[in-house]
Amino acid sequence: MLGLAEPSAGCSAKKRLLGMGHLQLAQWLHDALGEPLRTASMRARQLYHWLYVRGVGTISEMTSLPKELRLALENRAEIGRPSIVSEQISRDGTRKWLLRYLDGQEVETVYIPEEDRGALCVSTQAGCSLSCKFCHTGTMRLARNLTAGEILGQILVARDALGDWPSARVDRALTNIVIMGMGEPLLNYENVADAFRIVVDGDALGISRRRITLSTSGIVPKIERWGSDLRTGLAISLHAVRDELRNELVPINRKWPISELLQACRRYPVNRPITFEYVMLRGVNDADADARELVRLLRGLPAKVNLIPFNPWPGAPFDCSDPARIRSFASIIEAAGYPSPVRTPRGRDIMAACGQLRTAASRLRRSTNRASQFAAAKAGEAREPSDGGAFGGL
Ligand code: SF4
Repeated sequence: MLGLAEPSAGCSAKKRLLGMGHLQLAQWLHDALGEPLRTASMRARQLYHWLYVRGVGTISEMTSLPKELRLALENRAEIGRPSIVSEQISRDGTRKWLLRYLDGQEVETVYIPEEDRGALCVSTQAGCSLSCKFCHTGTMRLARNLTAGEILGQILVARDALGDWPSARVDRALTNIVIMGMGEPLLNYENVADAFRIVVDGDALGISRRRITLSTSGIVPKIERWGSDLRTGLAISLHAVRDELRNELVPINRKWPISELLQACRRYPVNRPITFEYVMLRGVNDADADARELVRLLRGLPAKVNLIPFNPWPGAPFDCSDPARIRSFASIIEAAGYPSPVRTPRGRDIMAACGQLRTAASRLRRSTNRASQFAAAKAGEAREPSDGGAFGGL
């Protein structure tokens, strides 16, 4: 995205390996480390395997690389994984990590286990510029796009925690990925696409395109392109069926209204039903008339509607619809032939609504900082001469 700060290189002069494909790795091994052209491709493939199939956390573990190459790599490169600021595990098994990148930016990643699979919800931007009214991340400003390596780092951290290496395991806990965390992925197109080329590569993370879904609030010009480039599933963060209301709830609708968004969906070049996400807001978008209009809009489009009970955060401007209202809404959509599962709220005890954990952590840090500044000031005050000095006039 134009005008966005890139991650600061000042915090580390080393090359970050995560995010590089094997061709980039081969070129870099040749250019930066002087690896002969005849062996650079083979070494790059080995490195690629260690990064994305074995998931090692250090260069010294890459034992198939010659020792001199490992030493050179240690001097000039780092894997570049994020650090874990906190991990929370819900009573229902949902796990949420707050991750910090090398420049201090933090994002959230959530793992949601189900009976026969487990989905990871990954973030693509630190913060978000789109200010959707029901979304807690929308209350934060956008700091920057994540790099491809930073997006991949979220998946690697989750695989570590779940014991999911190597990539070739058949009984992996992490089977699906939804690109639905903090940020709008299609406003960070190149980095998200680079990351997911590595995710779907059978010689890397090896997660099937059929098990990946990108969710967008409606960046219409990029939707078809994503379908052609990555061929994953698509979800639309819809939430309203009339432009007046959607302009308020999902302000990007002012640029690309519902009719243009649905045309882009009809052109999506992947033969899978499109998921429409619809958060249930009491008295706002949950009337039977809204459900009937939704059915009319979707006519002829292979689709599924996910009804999401609103997960409120402190100060949120909405309430969740009553269960009976949600059932009535769902029955109208189902009667028209569209599956409309009501999503069971997951991880409510660990603030699993997108962005909540990051806000809570920075609030805690701010109050800790304030407390330590206050303590330092008090200590300084105690050290000041009693007849004057910095605090003498207070
Ligand atoms: S719903 Fe998505 S696009 Fe909208 S503010 Fe939240 S993170 Fe951004």
